[in-house]
Amino acid sequence: MITPRIEINLRKIAHNAKTLKELYGSKGIDVIGVTKVVCGDTKIANILIKSGINILADSRIDNIKKMHNAGIQAQFLLLRSIYSQAKNIVKYADISLNSELMVIKELSKFAVKQDATHKIILMVELGDLREGIMPSNLEKIVNEVIGLKGIELAGIGTNLACFGGIKPDDKKMENLSSIAINIEDKFELKLEFVSGGNSANYNWFMSTKDVGKINNLRLGESIFLGCETLERKPIPGLFTDAFTLIAEVIESKIKPSLPNGNVYQDAFGNTPKFIDRGLIKRILLGVGLQDVLVSGLTPLLDIDILGASSDHIIVDAKQTDLKVGNTVEFNLNYGALLSAMTSPYINKKYK
Ligand SMILES: *Cc1c(COP(=O)(O)O)cnc(C)c1O
Repeated sequence: MITPRIEINLRKIAHNAKTLKELYGSKGIDVIGVTKVVCGDTKIANILIKSGINILADSRIDNIKKMHNAGIQAQFLLLRSIYSQAKNIVKYADISLNSELMVIKELSKFAVKQDATHKIILMVELGDLREGIMPSNLEKIVNEVIGLKGIELAGIGTNLACFGGIKPDDKKMENLSSIAINIEDKFELKLEFVSGGNSANYNWFMSTKDVGKINNLRLGESIFLGCETLERKPIPGLFTDAFTLIAEVIESKIKPSLPNGNVYQDAFGNTPKFIDRGLIKRILLGVGLQDVLVSGLTPLLDIDILGASSDHIIVDAKQTDLKVGNTVEFNLNYGALLSAMTSPYINKKYK
């Protein structure tokens, strides 16, 4: 079977999605499945739907278009709105996250043209400092948004633990809840979504006595990799190995561990340093930085990754016998999964 490839265990993904939906559902929180790390892969999207998830979210309209065109029966949410893409956002996404009035006005323009209603979730900045409206400006924006034709204010949301690494805790979630209550009272409306965050909200959810008005989370990593994302601890009962990268040995020789000659820059402009381990079993694998974020790979065998270039990973096989044509398996972290699913050079095998 051809390498390099990523093996995708759909049964394990389905198990994780069902388990998380049930867990969060037990306190009235609905789960949106976030497909961006798998580039809107349609087989995976279908499995999420079969596992009871009704809304799929992605950061790229191209991925949403792909899922839409594949006939996947879901509501689609765009996680990041771009002014110049407004026409396609209204066409392919039912809902989008927004924080700029200028963009929402453009969505309104195309919603009117397409005779559609586009739902908006306004993102609120609560300290992580990626996207979001400052809480003090929110009422003013809400007031404008509810007057726009073709636009329905469907909710508010926040995103933490992405840029600033800020923990979604009781204080942050109570803050979002009270903002939601305030908006509902002031404008006499009902917010369909009060979306509290992402896979980093797990610890808050498990420890909180009251989820307040939070009725929604947007989950990617915990569904696919089975972990929360504050400390990357496995979530009990979930699979952490739904994805495996398989690479092939293309050279296997006993060679020195220290390069021979004067050390200058390597292929990427770094000046490498090496540790003398004497003669070692040096293995070349036929996968490299053009395929995957090598620093996010963990080998399942007791071998050491010494480094990588565009097309090779260089390994010290230590006590393991690896011959040309043998394969080596790796677990992937989020960055490695994102890059592997994006690379056109990695074959996908579904199990
Ligand atoms: C990526 C993303 C998510 C999902 O994050 P995970 O850590 O994968 O659960 C949720 N919300 C927004 C706005 C995102 O960009």
